[in-house]
Amino acid sequence: YFITSEGPEGAGKTTVMNLLGDKLKEEGYDVVMTREPGGIMISEKIRNIILDTEHTMMESRTEALLYAAARRQHLVEKVKPAMDAGKIVICDRFIDSSLAYQGFARGIGVEEILAINKFAIGETMPNKTILFDIEPSVGLARINAHKTREKNRLDAESLAFHEKVREGYLSLVDRYPERIEVIDASRSIDEVLEEVYKSIKSKLEI
Ligand code: C5P
Ligand code: MG
Repeated sequence: YFITSEGPEGAGKTTVMNLLGDKLKEEGYDVVMTREPGGIMISEKIRNIILDTEHTMMESRTEALLYAAARRQHLVEKVKPAMDAGKIVICDRFIDSSLAYQGFARGIGVEEILAINKFAIGETMPNKTILFDIEPSVGLARINAHKTREKNRLDAESLAFHEKVREGYLSLVDRYPERIEVIDASRSIDEVLEEVYKSIKSKLEI
């Protein structure tokens, strides 16, 4: 079973999904936690290239291809083998990040990004995706309060860019209504976790 979490930075994806993973493990589920871009050595190296604050000249299609390349390697090396072994894979970001950020916010086009990602992942799509929805200004304020976070190239983007990312994500819900579930991420960690847990459990028990 393949679960992904999506949404902007500062929405609490990583925190909530890690807590969810711990809870499921305690209940005896075999869970693999991972993230994109990254999760394995080659893809973590690609991540560093994409997010390096010195790479201000990186062009948006180059960026899109690097995300797709990182995704391919991570999928074949880690996600697929775990799925084939019957494990639950919980991945922080996946294809919807590319569709919202590169396809929508960067303006490359959702169909173009879908095409290169189809090349990268074939037919493998998440069974369930939790979209952590939050007002970008609220998400950004949470990040700024979190002083230990490492700087990345996206920090240079405007609030307008992040508004577009959100709009892009919400438009994906119409495209994938069965898969994507929107969660109001402006609430407390406990409240969000509770809702995500109920939703995932109901899927796992079928
Ligand atoms: O969620 P995480 O902190 O790992 O994301 C790293 C950075 O990459 C964030 O700034 C995020 O906005 C950005 N990103 C992006 N396009 C993607 C995926 C992530 O711009 N497709
Ligand atoms: Mg995170």
